[in-house]
Amino acid sequence: MQRICVFCGSRSGRNPAYPEAAKQLAAALARRGIGIVYGGASIGIMGALADTALDQGVEVTGVIPGHLMDRERSHRNLTELHIVESMHERKALMGSLSDGFIALPGGLGTLEEFFEVLTWNQLGIHAKPCGLLNVAGFYDSLTSFLDHTVCEEFVPEAHRSFLLVGREPDPLLDDMQR
Ligand code: AMP
Repeated sequence: MQRICVFCGSRSGRNPAYPEAAKQLAAALARRGIGIVYGGASIGIMGALADTALDQGVEVTGVIPGHLMDRERSHRNLTELHIVESMHERKALMGSLSDGFIALPGGLGTLEEFFEVLTWNQLGIHAKPCGLLNVAGFYDSLTSFLDHTVCEEFVPEAHRSFLLVGREPDPLLDDMQR
Protein backbone atom coordinates (compact mmCIF):
# COMPACT_ATOMS: atom_id res chain seq x y z
CA MET A 1 0.00 0.00 0.00
CA GLN A 2 1.43 3.35 -1.03
CA ARG A 3 -1.24 5.77 0.17
CA ILE A 4 -4.24 5.62 2.46
CA CYS A 5 -6.96 8.23 2.34
CA VAL A 6 -8.06 9.42 5.76
CA PHE A 7 -11.48 11.00 6.19
CA CYS A 8 -11.94 12.88 9.45
CA GLY A 9 -13.64 15.82 11.09
CA SER A 10 -12.94 19.43 10.31
CA ARG A 11 -13.60 19.92 14.05
CA SER A 12 -11.67 18.33 16.92
CA GLY A 13 -14.72 16.95 18.76
CA ARG A 14 -15.39 16.86 22.49
CA ASN A 15 -13.00 14.08 23.50
CA PRO A 16 -9.24 14.76 23.32
CA ALA A 17 -8.92 11.07 22.39
CA TYR A 18 -10.11 11.97 18.87
CA PRO A 19 -7.23 14.24 17.78
CA GLU A 20 -4.89 11.99 19.76
CA ALA A 21 -6.00 9.03 17.64
CA ALA A 22 -5.25 11.04 14.49
CA LYS A 23 -1.70 11.54 15.76
CA GLN A 24 -1.36 7.82 16.56
CA LEU A 25 -2.63 6.91 13.11
CA ALA A 26 -0.12 9.29 11.51
CA ALA A 27 2.69 7.66 13.52
CA ALA A 28 1.53 4.16 12.55
CA LEU A 29 1.46 5.13 8.87
CA ALA A 30 4.95 6.64 9.22
CA ARG A 31 6.28 3.33 10.64
CA ARG A 32 4.81 1.47 7.63
CA GLY A 33 6.02 4.00 5.04
CA ILE A 34 2.46 4.69 3.86
CA GLY A 35 1.51 8.16 2.62
CA ILE A 36 -1.69 10.04 3.43
CA VAL A 37 -4.34 11.55 1.19
CA TYR A 38 -6.82 13.78 2.99
CA GLY A 39 -9.03 16.85 2.60
CA GLY A 40 -6.20 19.39 2.79
CA ALA A 41 -7.42 21.40 5.79
CA SER A 42 -5.32 22.70 8.69
CA ILE A 43 -8.18 22.67 11.19
CA GLY A 44 -9.73 20.07 13.51
CA ILE A 45 -8.73 16.44 13.38
CA MET A 46 -7.62 16.95 9.77
CA GLY A 47 -4.99 19.44 10.94
CA ALA A 48 -3.77 17.19 13.79
CA LEU A 49 -3.36 14.32 11.35
CA ALA A 50 -1.46 16.33 8.73
CA ASP A 51 0.85 18.11 11.20
CA THR A 52 1.89 14.91 12.95
CA ALA A 53 2.35 13.04 9.69
CA LEU A 54 4.54 15.79 8.20
CA ASP A 55 6.63 15.91 11.40
CA GLN A 56 7.23 12.17 11.01
CA GLY A 57 8.25 12.40 7.37
CA VAL A 58 5.04 11.00 5.87
CA GLU A 59 4.09 12.23 2.38
CA VAL A 60 0.81 14.10 2.81
CA THR A 61 -1.37 14.95 -0.19
CA GLY A 62 -4.30 17.32 0.30
CA VAL A 63 -7.27 17.62 -2.06
CA ILE A 64 -9.44 20.68 -1.52
CA PRO A 65 -11.97 22.56 -3.63
CA GLY A 66 -10.95 26.17 -4.24
CA HIS A 67 -14.11 27.52 -2.62
CA LEU A 68 -13.26 25.76 0.70
CA MET A 69 -9.68 26.98 0.96
CA ASP A 70 -10.59 29.84 3.31
CA ARG A 71 -13.30 28.11 5.30
CA GLU A 72 -11.24 24.97 5.98
CA ARG A 73 -7.97 26.93 6.13
CA SER A 74 -6.04 24.91 3.60
CA HIS A 75 -2.75 23.57 4.95
CA ARG A 76 0.29 25.51 3.69
CA ASN A 77 3.04 22.93 4.15
CA LEU A 78 1.77 19.73 2.56
CA THR A 79 3.90 17.56 0.31
CA GLU A 80 1.32 18.27 -2.38
CA LEU A 81 -1.98 20.17 -2.48
CA HIS A 82 -4.47 19.59 -5.30
CA ILE A 83 -6.96 22.44 -5.70
CA VAL A 84 -10.06 21.13 -7.46
CA GLU A 85 -13.32 22.61 -8.74
CA SER A 86 -15.95 20.66 -6.83
CA MET A 87 -16.71 18.21 -4.02
CA HIS A 88 -17.28 15.50 -6.63
CA GLU A 89 -13.88 16.10 -8.15
CA ARG A 90 -12.35 16.04 -4.67
CA LYS A 91 -13.78 12.63 -3.89
CA ALA A 92 -12.91 11.18 -7.27
CA LEU A 93 -9.28 12.31 -6.98
CA MET A 94 -8.96 11.18 -3.35
CA GLY A 95 -10.34 7.81 -4.45
CA SER A 96 -8.00 7.36 -7.39
CA LEU A 97 -4.88 8.42 -5.45
CA SER A 98 -5.51 5.98 -2.60
CA ASP A 99 -5.11 2.24 -2.01
CA GLY A 100 -7.42 2.16 1.01
CA PHE A 101 -9.58 4.40 3.21
CA ILE A 102 -9.85 5.06 6.93
CA ALA A 103 -12.44 7.16 8.75
CA LEU A 104 -11.50 8.74 12.05
CA PRO A 105 -14.23 10.40 14.11
CA GLY A 106 -15.93 13.17 12.17
CA GLY A 107 -19.24 14.66 11.12
CA LEU A 108 -21.53 14.51 8.13
CA GLY A 109 -18.76 15.17 5.61
CA THR A 110 -16.66 12.32 7.00
CA LEU A 111 -19.60 9.91 6.88
CA GLU A 112 -20.60 10.97 3.38
CA GLU A 113 -17.10 10.52 1.99
CA PHE A 114 -16.50 7.19 3.74
CA PHE A 115 -19.80 5.61 2.73
CA GLU A 116 -19.27 6.54 -0.88
CA VAL A 117 -15.95 4.67 -1.12
CA LEU A 118 -17.40 1.76 0.88
CA THR A 119 -20.25 1.41 -1.62
CA TRP A 120 -17.76 1.52 -4.53
CA ASN A 121 -16.68 -1.93 -3.26
CA GLN A 122 -20.20 -3.34 -3.50
CA LEU A 123 -20.62 -1.84 -6.98
CA GLY A 124 -17.28 -3.23 -8.17
CA ILE A 125 -15.97 0.27 -9.00
CA HIS A 126 -12.90 -0.56 -6.94
CA ALA A 127 -11.72 -3.23 -4.50
CA LYS A 128 -9.98 -1.25 -1.75
CA PRO A 129 -10.10 -1.84 2.00
CA CYS A 130 -12.21 0.55 4.09
CA GLY A 131 -11.67 0.80 7.84
CA LEU A 132 -13.33 2.67 10.69
CA LEU A 133 -11.01 3.73 13.50
CA ASN A 134 -13.48 3.33 16.32
CA VAL A 135 -11.83 5.71 18.79
CA ALA A 136 -13.36 5.53 22.28
CA GLY A 137 -16.38 3.70 20.85
CA PHE A 138 -17.28 6.67 18.63
CA TYR A 139 -18.65 4.38 15.89
CA ASP A 140 -20.32 1.74 18.14
CA SER A 141 -23.85 2.86 17.32
CA LEU A 142 -23.05 3.04 13.59
CA THR A 143 -21.72 -0.53 13.48
CA SER A 144 -24.81 -1.71 15.43
CA PHE A 145 -27.01 0.06 12.92
CA LEU A 146 -25.17 -1.64 10.04
CA ASP A 147 -25.78 -5.01 11.73
CA HIS A 148 -29.46 -4.02 11.80
CA THR A 149 -29.39 -3.33 8.04
CA VAL A 150 -28.14 -6.90 7.56
CA CYS A 151 -30.82 -8.37 9.88
CA GLU A 152 -33.47 -6.47 7.95
CA GLU A 153 -32.09 -7.88 4.67
CA PHE A 154 -31.10 -4.62 3.01
CA VAL A 155 -27.36 -5.25 3.16
CA PRO A 156 -25.96 -8.71 2.27
CA GLU A 157 -23.52 -10.08 4.86
CA ALA A 158 -20.85 -10.14 2.13
CA HIS A 159 -21.21 -6.36 1.66
CA ARG A 160 -21.31 -5.69 5.43
CA SER A 161 -17.97 -7.48 5.66
CA PHE A 162 -16.32 -4.89 3.40
CA LEU A 163 -16.26 -2.67 6.49
CA LEU A 164 -13.24 -3.24 8.73
CA VAL A 165 -13.28 -1.83 12.25
CA GLY A 166 -10.50 -1.37 14.80
CA ARG A 167 -10.02 0.50 18.04
CA GLU A 168 -6.28 1.04 17.47
CA PRO A 169 -4.43 1.99 14.27
CA ASP A 170 -2.08 -1.02 14.06
CA PRO A 171 -4.63 -3.86 14.23
CA LEU A 172 -6.83 -1.97 11.75
CA LEU A 173 -3.92 -1.42 9.35
CA ASP A 174 -2.92 -5.09 9.71
CA ASP A 175 -6.46 -6.09 8.65
CA MET A 176 -6.40 -3.65 5.75
CA GLN A 177 -3.02 -4.90 4.51
CA ARG A 178 -4.01 -8.60 4.71
P1 AMP B 1 -16.99 16.99 8.65
O1 AMP B 1 -16.88 15.54 8.98
O2 AMP B 1 -18.43 17.42 8.40
O3 AMP B 1 -16.26 17.89 9.60
O4 AMP B 1 -16.31 17.18 7.22
C1 AMP B 1 -15.05 16.61 6.96
C2 AMP B 1 -14.63 16.97 5.57
O5 AMP B 1 -15.57 16.43 4.63
C3 AMP B 1 -14.55 18.48 5.27
O6 AMP B 1 -13.33 18.71 4.60
C4 AMP B 1 -15.73 18.70 4.33
O7 AMP B 1 -15.43 19.72 3.39
C5 AMP B 1 -15.81 17.38 3.61
N1 AMP B 1 -17.13 17.18 2.98
C6 AMP B 1 -18.34 17.53 3.45
N2 AMP B 1 -19.32 17.17 2.60
C7 AMP B 1 -18.70 16.58 1.52
C8 AMP B 1 -19.14 16.03 0.28
N3 AMP B 1 -20.42 15.98 -0.03
N4 AMP B 1 -18.20 15.54 -0.54
C9 AMP B 1 -16.88 15.59 -0.22
N5 AMP B 1 -16.42 16.10 0.91
C10 AMP B 1 -17.30 16.59 1.79
